[in-house]
Amino acid sequence: MSAAAAEVLKQHLIDPEVCIRCNTCEETCPVGAITHDSNNYVVDASKCNFCMDCISPCPTGSIDNWRVVKSAWGIDEQFGWSELPVQEAIAPAATGGQLEAIDVEAQALIAEAQNGAGGRAVAASSAAKPSVNLFNRDRPAMAIVAGNFCLTDESADNDVRHIILDFGDTRFPVLEGQSVGIVMAGLDGNGAPHPIRLYSVASPRHGERPNTNNIALTVKRDGPGLCSNYLCDLKKGDRVAVTGPFGATFLMPNDSSANIIMICTGTGSAPFRGFTEWRRRMMPEAQGRMLLFFGARRPEELPYFGPLQKVPETLLGKYFAYSRIAGERKIYVQDRMREQSPLLAGLLKSGATHIYVCGLKGMEQGVDAALDDICRGEGMAWRELRESMRNEGRYHVETY
Ligand code: NAP
Repeated sequence: MSAAAAEVLKQHLIDPEVCIRCNTCEETCPVGAITHDSNNYVVDASKCNFCMDCISPCPTGSIDNWRVVKSAWGIDEQFGWSELPVQEAIAPAATGGQLEAIDVEAQALIAEAQNGAGGRAVAASSAAKPSVNLFNRDRPAMAIVAGNFCLTDESADNDVRHIILDFGDTRFPVLEGQSVGIVMAGLDGNGAPHPIRLYSVASPRHGERPNTNNIALTVKRDGPGLCSNYLCDLKKGDRVAVTGPFGATFLMPNDSSANIIMICTGTGSAPFRGFTEWRRRMMPEAQGRMLLFFGARRPEELPYFGPLQKVPETLLGKYFAYSRIAGERKIYVQDRMREQSPLLAGLLKSGATHIYVCGLKGMEQGVDAALDDICRGEGMAWRELRESMRNEGRYHVETY
């Protein structure tokens, strides 16, 4: 390293406001540079070798933060942070050529790592500012189960449930699209605490019913899934430990002229129920279109099938895709999107259009290919459009 470059260094940091403390980065780091205390996950600058292995697996993007500093912040300082420090002004001459080289490498690696995962997430410019990380494992919010209702037909392979958690006097502010963590009581088979599991909030910011201090979750019973079964079995009056809220970018635009295209499979519909309810309640005359492309195995397994039928088409254009109706061809959301090419292409030409994809990881590629075809048919380049939509906070993916 040149003498000039040695005067400053680029430090890898984790944003404590966005991090969900899931431990993925610590598990991934091959050189043991990432550690945590009860407050924060941090990067030890003396160990980090910029390998970027941790960037792609991070579910929130909180790992992808960098500061040019004259001397590195120690891990003890980082443990005490509630937000990242601002970038100090450092004379460009002092950076020599070294940092530029790291930047280019980092950008290439990050771009590759995030290809298909929605890219670097940016919130919609009109989205409300979310609160994040108010409660953690050591200090969870205690909620009472106010209701636990089955959303699917008896014939469904696994029931999907609508679970309402009431926070009583505890302030637990959420925005549509945010997630919460559930802390199961007890220890796992190895005597370790159960990992925190994340669930999207399925209700709007002012509660399941307006001005109630509760949230709804959409949870599918899952054979081996300990936490999903725990939630599905909860009874009215049970107490649940909740962490979060989490997520600062998968948020709806608060602009009534925004067109919102929502594409989901199964329980990935949870955030879109929140989006739809918020707009229905607060902006019923909104000029922006709202479209929902929703995939499920059969109508009997589509969460909120009944209530969705009652949402007027003027508020929400609904396109259901069923994959397992006996004797019928398998249809996926991307097939329904292709059928609506003229409508989608028209909306994609507008700078007021936002796309949200939520659900199975496997759908990402098919949805992307459909958007590519739809754009090509209209002489538009989807990859370029997707990039600008990402940068403008108008393209969001949350898949598991
Ligand atoms: P599911 O019932 O297994 O599948 C829903 C539909 O998606 C089925 O019709 C399925 O078709 C179809 N599908 C499968 N592969 C696809 C592909 N490549 N492209 C398009 N569609 C495809 O779904 P689920 O069990 O509810 O899972 C939903 C996912 O959402 C989970 O991974 C969950 O973690 C995630 N999620 C949940 C929440 C929440 O808060 N609960 C929030 C966000 C995301 P087949 O008949 O071919 O299987």
